[in-house]
Amino acid sequence: MTSIAVRLEACAKTFADGTRALHPVDLEFRPGEKVAILGPSGCGKTTTLRIIAGLEMPDAGGRVWFAGEDVTALPVEKRNVGMVFQNYALFPNMTVAENVAYGLKIRGAGRSEREQRVMKMLEMMRIRELAERRIDQLSGGQRQRVALARALAVSPRVLLLDEPLTALDAKLRDSLRIEIDALLRGLDVLAIYVTHDQAEAMALGDRIIVMSQGRVAQAGTPREIYHHPANRFVAEFVGTLNRVPGRIAGDQIETPGGRLPWPRGGSGTVEVFFRPESVTLADGGGQLAGTVTSHFFLGDRTRLVIDLGGHPIIVETVARREFRNGEAVRLDVDPATLFTLS
Ligand code: ATP
Repeated sequence: MTSIAVRLEACAKTFADGTRALHPVDLEFRPGEKVAILGPSGCGKTTTLRIIAGLEMPDAGGRVWFAGEDVTALPVEKRNVGMVFQNYALFPNMTVAENVAYGLKIRGAGRSEREQRVMKMLEMMRIRELAERRIDQLSGGQRQRVALARALAVSPRVLLLDEPLTALDAKLRDSLRIEIDALLRGLDVLAIYVTHDQAEAMALGDRIIVMSQGRVAQAGTPREIYHHPANRFVAEFVGTLNRVPGRIAGDQIETPGGRLPWPRGGSGTVEVFFRPESVTLADGGGQLAGTVTSHFFLGDRTRLVIDLGGHPIIVETVARREFRNGEAVRLDVDPATLFTLS
């Protein structure tokens, strides 16, 4: 038995018009894993998912493996994948129950098996009372639940989700995200989730694969990606990032706002990076001196834009006081969180 559920080997994709959507990528997915594929529009996320599904053939030389079986030549209907795609529409002229039963029927499941399985799926998605409704009588969130129930009904080898929440309003998206997370956690199916939304990727992925221009920019846990980005693209795409120029002098870095500790030593000029939450406002002293240029009260915290000798940085504070533009502030940055990038 292999412990790899899905493997892409040197999978590239060049479309008929010459567009190179994917450079050769190698990816492995373990059984039961929840993986988010994250990246900006056009980076090749959907193409990767479609190659796994069997909706797209990789260029010559590419191979797709399901648990050690070469499925490269196997069409989509023979791969037993569950799909929840934004544009993978439900059948509007069928009821909810008929939609969920569809894949089972195609696979030749008997009537009573179908009925049992459909009820189980509808209960799991908490939409049992909608069984006899038509799709056009449902809200967006309800449709998404039906789509998930339909995809899961056939006990797929892998569940593929492509931006399933994008079309929904922000509030519904947040609550469905929590629901989908809880639901997927309770299933031991491998789920691969494509999104351009980093908060969604962080929330839903045990692992995140960040893509850029048809290549894998980094693969790792959400913490690895956020705290130890492998390159500038990942650092800037995931989360908010501050950057200031600096010159290493012994165990310190001189920046336009003051000196920061730099235990790693070295020499030369660098760009030093840190996240907004690594900065605290200092009562007295403080490593850096800056001036507040704007402030946004967000309820649970205040977001400040602070000028450090001509370089704006973003700082978030839970301090319950008010801020003024032009106000002088002193700051400390947790030295363990500073990083540079090649
Ligand atoms: P989005 O988030 O916008 O859906 P994506 O990361 O999923 O983006 P893909 O859909 O994988 O990106 O597309 C990757 C590239 O391939 C894009 O430049 C896209 O325009 C191109 N592409 C996709 N499908 C085709 C096609 N059938 N023919 C030609 N080019 C295509």
